[in-house]
Amino acid sequence: MNKMGLEEYKGVFVFAQQVDNTLNGVAFELLGKGKELAKDLNTEVTAVLIGSDVKGLADQLAEYGADKVIVVDDPELKNYRTEPYAHALASVINEFKPEVMLVGATAIGRDLGPTVSARVATGLTADCTVLEIGDFPINPVGNQEQKHNQLLMTRPAFGGNTIATIACPDNRPQMATVRPGVMQKIAPIKGAKAEVIEFNPGFTPNNRYVEIMDIVKEVKNTANIMDAKILVSGGRGVGSKENFKLLEDLAEVLGGTVSCSRAVVENGWLPVDLQVGQTGKTVRPQIYFAIGISGAIQHVAGMEDSDLIIAINKDEDAPIFDVADYGLVGDLNKIVPALTKALKEEMAAK
Ligand SMILES: Cc1cc2nc3c(=O)[nH]c(=O)nc-3n(C[C@H](O)[C@H](O)[C@H](O)COP(=O)(O)OP(=O)(O)OC[C@H]3O[C@@H](n4cnc5c(N)ncnc54)[C@H](O)[C@@H]3O)c2cc1C
Repeated sequence: MNKMGLEEYKGVFVFAQQVDNTLNGVAFELLGKGKELAKDLNTEVTAVLIGSDVKGLADQLAEYGADKVIVVDDPELKNYRTEPYAHALASVINEFKPEVMLVGATAIGRDLGPTVSARVATGLTADCTVLEIGDFPINPVGNQEQKHNQLLMTRPAFGGNTIATIACPDNRPQMATVRPGVMQKIAPIKGAKAEVIEFNPGFTPNNRYVEIMDIVKEVKNTANIMDAKILVSGGRGVGSKENFKLLEDLAEVLGGTVSCSRAVVENGWLPVDLQVGQTGKTVRPQIYFAIGISGAIQHVAGMEDSDLIIAINKDEDAPIFDVADYGLVGDLNKIVPALTKALKEEMAAK
């Protein structure tokens, strides 16, 4: 469908997901990215905050870069439900006409984003890993018009075997979901204030307003690897569930957390919450140890932005060494305990 008046659509909007009055980290990450995009488009970044009694969160959004915050506050929005939230966000888009709308690819965002994009008759690119402003088509094609200042949305395609860059030149807004951990938030600007705009499109419950009977919160006892500063990550080369003890010992002396490749999850050695990669978590620790991990593209996609990567592998041609800052070629069963011992002695000497 070709809509008229694309030029009416201005500004970069970010869905600021909150649950129980706590903002999700991805909201700040999207603001960080949104600010960059807004700069290139010479426009502002606006956070869309939807919930009940959530206005107090606007200052936090300002500190992470929001120029404006549109607040849709209504008792119907207390807990996430598809219908009232989709109505809220679609109404904001119809009223304020953003050119870009970013949503976190969380459980909520994956439900909300496509529902809203269908409602406002635009496209959505899911699970983007890179977002930038540029020309589309990227290289001129025949007599096809090349449009400028388009949102170029890059994501893995065909099961992660290639990457695709997608644009949405004929419809607005250009919508994308982005997985948590992929974009970087800015260092908060203390005391920053945003213009707060209250907007309520009115909520009339209908048969699509589901009734929530009960909310059961999952209790997890696995660590959140996305927050860890040091990750000691193991792959199939570790050999067994029991042998992960070597990695746990190393993690303990370093104050780090154990994570893993998908092969480890598939073998049932560690839970999926600890998996790094395209179908796992995207991590960005200060130090990432890749131990007995070959460095498949789907694994690397989740850890390549770590500050320092140290790989231990017995195969000197393993692709992990292409992304590693330091590489140790040898048997992890010898290297890891020796490293743990040396670090322990070092710490004891201090
Ligand atoms: C659609 C799709 C999505 C995927 N998503 C993910 C994902 O999110 N995360 C992910 O990790 N993978 C993912 N994969 C799987 C990925 O392609 C690889 O199969 C996987 O990462 C391999 O895990 P690994 O490196 O632990 O095992 P392997 O590739 O088997 O590598 C084991 C490594 O250990 C080394 N080694 C063995 N013994 C020792 C020893 N004693 N000392 C030192 N080194 C040793 C070997 O030399 C080898 O390099 C995905 C695949 C597909 C198709």
